[in-house]
This record gives sequence, structure tokens and C-alpha cells, in this order.
Amino acid sequence: MSEKKEKKARIVDHRHCRICGRAIPPDKEICSEKCMQVQARIEARQRRMRNIMLIMYAVIFVIFFMLLFLGGGPSQ
Ligand SMILES: [Zn+2]
Repeated sequence: MSEKKEKKARIVDHRHCRICGRAIPPDKEICSEKCMQVQARIEARQRRMRNIMLIMYAVIFVIFFMLLFLGGGPSQ
């Protein structure tokens, strides 16, 4: 069984849109303004999430130290 259909896999230099995956020229990262807005929103959310995580870590750290000082310290 031999397939006679030649698949012309032309490898044109291109990228895929980060949001929708459409093929786009190599000098672009995102295909349209709509996808750019989506990307901006995702980045903003990621930044906010990172900030929240940092604050959470800081709070946990502070609570941990407070517990250490209040509970584990030498009792007078
Ligand atoms: Zn896109």
C-alpha cells in the first residue's frame, strides 16, 4: 500500500500565535489585536497572581516567626 499523494510539507519560516495558535509571520508573536488583548490580560493576571503568592509567602513567614517567638520562645 503506497500512498501516491505527496504531502507538500513546505516549511515556511513562521510562528504560531501564542493565543489561538494560528500561523503568523516570524516577526510577529501574536496574530491580531484581539489576541494581544487576551495576552495582556493573561500577563496581568499572572503578575497579580505572583504578587499574591509573594504576599502569601511573606504573611506565612511572619506568622511562622510570630508563632516561633510567642510559642517556642523561652517562657519567663
Ligand atoms: Zn491569535
